[in-house]
Amino acid sequence: MTILIFDIDGTLIDSTGLDSKLYRQAVQEVLGSVQFRSDWSEYTDVTDPGILRQILREKGVEHPSVAEPIAAARARFGELVADRLAEEPCRPLPGAVGAMARLIRDPKVRVGLATGGWGHTAAMKLRSAGFPTESIPIFTADHHHQRIGIMRACLSSLAPGETEASPKVTYIGDGPWDLKASSELDWGFVAVGPRLQGKWRRWIPHFADPSWSEVLGLTVSG
Ligand SMILES: [Mg+2]
Repeated sequence: MTILIFDIDGTLIDSTGLDSKLYRQAVQEVLGSVQFRSDWSEYTDVTDPGILRQILREKGVEHPSVAEPIAAARARFGELVADRLAEEPCRPLPGAVGAMARLIRDPKVRVGLATGGWGHTAAMKLRSAGFPTESIPIFTADHHHQRIGIMRACLSSLAPGETEASPKVTYIGDGPWDLKASSELDWGFVAVGPRLQGKWRRWIPHFADPSWSEVLGLTVSG
């Protein structure tokens, strides 16, 4: 049994630019002026609520007072993403919808999604890009504010009783934080897209590349 757990933004969906712009806008509408770090990697937890918790902590807002601004930013971000998708749908990465359909049908593979984004926007973007959301278990930052917590929850849903260090689990992502989380969990990792090009041996540009299933460790067929 091969377990494959995918990140969403930048991995299955070409949404990273849109996403970070609208996220910044939502946070600023709720909190006022915020000086964001130039690189998301500079935040301790690169997830929608994780970044916001750190911003709030640095502004001197501590638990439990963080709950209300986080809920407000989440709601506003959802509105902004819904408005944008109504005008312009999200695009999947080349080949990603077909690759996912094939993996779902493969009896030797279990597939799940684990994103650092909130659940409402993840579902909207996946539907907009044409992914069959009802047939894939999706774990998001609504489950946990740390990426490894989200990834662990996804694994225990796909393979109850499987140990975290299982060599058969592979995470597929586009960010340095995805690579970091995978190595913390001792999972396999496949890098997707330009951000990690040249930085990790198991790499594909997208899923229209003929090498994708081999790089993911699957037998090439059909
Ligand atoms: Mg990503």
